[in-house]
Amino acid sequence: MKTMVDKYGATYTKYAGQIWVSAGVGFNVALLKETGELKVLGFGNGEAEKVVIQVLKTNGWSDHYIAYLLSEKDEVATCAVCGQTYHENQVNLVDYEEDVCMLCEPKYKENGVDN
Ligand SMILES: [Zn+2]
Repeated sequence: MKTMVDKYGATYTKYAGQIWVSAGVGFNVALLKETGELKVLGFGNGEAEKVVIQVLKTNGWSDHYIAYLLSEKDEVATCAVCGQTYHENQVNLVDYEEDVCMLCEPKYKENGVDN
């Protein structure tokens, strides 16, 4: 299993995507930044699945952004309309010539796909 140690000496294992968790019943949830540093986002107690989502939500991030953080690099897609990157499940890659995310899709449809 891949592990990382933060500057306080705590050991983290990868949870999903860019999110890592420290060991223990009570544990830290951290974001692996592009610089390679772990940034602790919060602390939780209980089942990792629930705690990770809770901590990410308390940071005020949208479901889309949370899905992006939890996805692997090869699972992300960029919306041609807003330029934001999301988990590929939230981007329509098939119905249009361009990749359009779920947030932009209603407007994109309305304006006509053909012009
Ligand atoms: Zn979009």
